[in-house]
Amino acid sequence: MAIRTEQDGWGLRGDSMQCAWCESKKATNASATCYWELPDGTRAIEIMSIPSVQCPDCGMEYQEETLVEEIEDQLMLIDTKPLPNTLTYKELMDIPRFLKKNYFKL
Ligand SMILES: [Zn+2]
Repeated sequence: MAIRTEQDGWGLRGDSMQCAWCESKKATNASATCYWELPDGTRAIEIMSIPSVQCPDCGMEYQEETLVEEIEDQLMLIDTKPLPNTLTYKELMDIPRFLKKNYFKL
C-alpha cells in the first residue's frame, strides 16, 4: 500500500533525512538501545540512547557509519573493565580516554 504525502511538508522538517537503505525521505532521528560486544570479546554491554535513523517505509533502524566508528574507537581507547553492563551513549562518550591517540588506526 502506497501512501502519498506532501513533498513540501517533509522538506520543511529539520529532523527528516534520507534512508540509506530504501532512499525514502521519511527517515527520522531516533534513539536506539544496542548490545555492543567489547573489543576484547569478553562481554557485551547495553548502550542506550544511541542516535539512530529510523525509516517508516522499510522498517530499518540503523546507526550511521561514522557513529558506529566513534563507538568502536571509544571502546578501544577506554578501560572497558569497569564499564557497567548498561549505560547511555553519552555516558560512554564522556569516559576519558587513556590513550592519547588511536593506535589501532593507521
Ligand atoms: Zn528505508
